[in-house]
Amino acid sequence: MAEPATAPSARTTVRRGANRAVYEDARVREILDAGMIAHVGVQTPDGPLVLPMAYGRDDETLYLHGAAANHLLGTGDGHEICATVTHVDGLVMARTPFHNSMNYRSVVVRGHATKIEEKAAKLRALKIITDHVVENWDLGREVSDIDEKKTLVLELPLAEASAKVRAGDPIDEEDDMKGPWWAGVIPVEIRIGAAYPAADLTADPTPPNAYRALDGTVR
Ligand SMILES: Cc1cc2nc3c(=O)[nH]c(=O)nc-3n(C[C@H](O)[C@H](O)[C@H](O)COP(=O)(O)OP(=O)(O)OC[C@H]3O[C@@H](n4cnc5c(N)ncnc54)[C@H](O)[C@@H]3O)c2cc1C
Repeated sequence: MAEPATAPSARTTVRRGANRAVYEDARVREILDAGMIAHVGVQTPDGPLVLPMAYGRDDETLYLHGAAANHLLGTGDGHEICATVTHVDGLVMARTPFHNSMNYRSVVVRGHATKIEEKAAKLRALKIITDHVVENWDLGREVSDIDEKKTLVLELPLAEASAKVRAGDPIDEEDDMKGPWWAGVIPVEIRIGAAYPAADLTADPTPPNAYRALDGTVR
């Protein structure tokens, strides 16, 4: 996919805080890769609905999955949906609360969602979603036909995606700069802890290397 230097569409053009807009494919994908959940929005017959969901991506597409009877995904199939991924990197404390802010990275993907019907494509998407969170598709029991049939997978093109990024210090007013008030940034991060076995585990309690390697890493 070519790297757009500008927004891919009028509706994904960041208007407020345009200096924080990022449209380069590589940066958008980097923010998506660092995230764990997307907030997915659809228009349902009884009103707008936004729910948190896991996701995965390849070069062209964002994938979402749920139960075959999933209301949000079922409603979204064949319609415009929106998926948003957000990272809070810092609490930006200004000299006046009026100028407090947050350092963040966020991506908004808008587009037409479609259910994946073909089995091989569906399984590929499910592996991508699974391994996006923690690489473990190949560590558990093999997926059965029943598992596959009970699962609904939607694909959403990444063609209309924008990112917005804030980093750095508070931006205070000139008159406040020499005042006695503290200003700075309180960092925020998601840190992965040590894996522990399920209470009813009968297999070897030692977590797989892939899980142990995550201990202490920052997402
Ligand atoms: C971190 C995280 C990751 C998740 N990942 C997935 C995923 O990958 N796939 C998936 O299918 N589901 C996931 N879920 C659950 C998802 O948010 C929905 O609850 C689920 O998909 C059911 O959707 P539905 O439209 O069928 O819900 P319904 O049961 O039809 O929703 C009915 C009503 O219940 C309420 N409701 C539903 N979900 C939530 C919620 N999460 N929190 C508060 N109220 C709610 C809302 O008011 C909604 O209108 C995840 C949830 C979290 C918190």
